[in-house]
Amino acid sequence: MTDINWNDYSLETQAIRAGHKRTHEDEHSIPIFATSSYVFKSAEEAALRFTGQKPGNIYSRFTNPTVSAFQERLALMEKGERCLAFSSGMAAIMAVGMGLLKAGDHVLCSRGVFGNTVLMFQNYFSKFGVETDFVDLIDTAAWEAAMKPNTRFLFLETPSNPLIEIADITALADIAHKHGSLLIVDNCFCTPVLQKPFELGADIVIHSATKYIDGQGRCVGGAVIASDEIIEKSIYPYLRTGGATMSPFNAWVFLSGLETLAVRMKAHCDSAFELALWLEQQPGIAKVHYPGLASHAQHQLAKRQQSHFGGIVSFELTGGKEHAWKLIDATEMLSITANLGDVKTTITHPATTTHGRLAPEVRAAAGIKDGLVRISVGLENLEDIKKDILRGL
Ligand SMILES: *Cc1c(COP(=O)(O)O)cnc(C)c1O
Repeated sequence: MTDINWNDYSLETQAIRAGHKRTHEDEHSIPIFATSSYVFKSAEEAALRFTGQKPGNIYSRFTNPTVSAFQERLALMEKGERCLAFSSGMAAIMAVGMGLLKAGDHVLCSRGVFGNTVLMFQNYFSKFGVETDFVDLIDTAAWEAAMKPNTRFLFLETPSNPLIEIADITALADIAHKHGSLLIVDNCFCTPVLQKPFELGADIVIHSATKYIDGQGRCVGGAVIASDEIIEKSIYPYLRTGGATMSPFNAWVFLSGLETLAVRMKAHCDSAFELALWLEQQPGIAKVHYPGLASHAQHQLAKRQQSHFGGIVSFELTGGKEHAWKLIDATEMLSITANLGDVKTTITHPATTTHGRLAPEVRAAAGIKDGLVRISVGLENLEDIKKDILRGL
């Protein structure tokens, strides 16, 4: 089993079979290696492993077989060279910053990224002399104009949260490379099933495994996928020292999440598409944000760049915050929670939750209006989901 070249297999097969190094117990399912350290056959072997002259596990802050299986599987699915798992999506983003940035560097970040990502650059990396400018995700010319000689990387999510805007990854990769910078894509909303940023020119892919990779809202985790060189030189040394390691139990949950990711993503996308079309027909809704709709500004780009349009739909109620809260409170089945990518449909008011800690002017610049509601479409019967939304419309 270990000598199969998984690169020759398709994503659906990699997701189910790759990464497992079967032990002498001949187990069929990947075990959870609940061990903090590993033993060496001799003092000499211990010394060789610590210096890296001999491969092998030393301590689970560095490597763990269950976590390694997850890393190997996700790297294959993303078509990246290497993956490192982290204790959360934010820890993965933190690791990329800590590994790659130094005082005096500049970062260009999309305005439409996850709220905590904005705060990471704005409130924390800034303390250590790293300056970040925020750019409109879909305005390619604005990215180009904001580049500086010391711009170390460009950071974005596409589709964005919660407005589901689509960035042109290839165009932004070209801008980054022309200036000697890197392009980092947070691929959380699409997963490798819908979008492969490396094939479009990205240098680093970030995941919050907490979302679709888990798929059932159980564990928090994250990942960084990049070239061998970037991982070896910049990210792995930080993981070893910084310590935001993924636990073997969480890796085991995420491994089984990956096994069903392709079928779940297809079902999420099919329902989200139908729901978006239906929402467009309902009164009291000013705008529906979904890249599968012909009314979406980057519909053609989404068709080119993604294999499907994703499971997240957002919409603006004409009645502002009051109606948004009323609609949310009138549901009886949908989960009022900020999590997404779950088999359970979730409903959120971004302006007062996920993006509530942003300054009002930052939120306004990001286009997140008070009447905006975001739905992560789950796998319940779609008619039941519509019925629940109708209660408060
Ligand atoms: C949730 C999320 C994160 C942060 O991940 P955690 O696992 O919650 O730390 C980062 N990016 C995106 C797009 C997310 O949705």
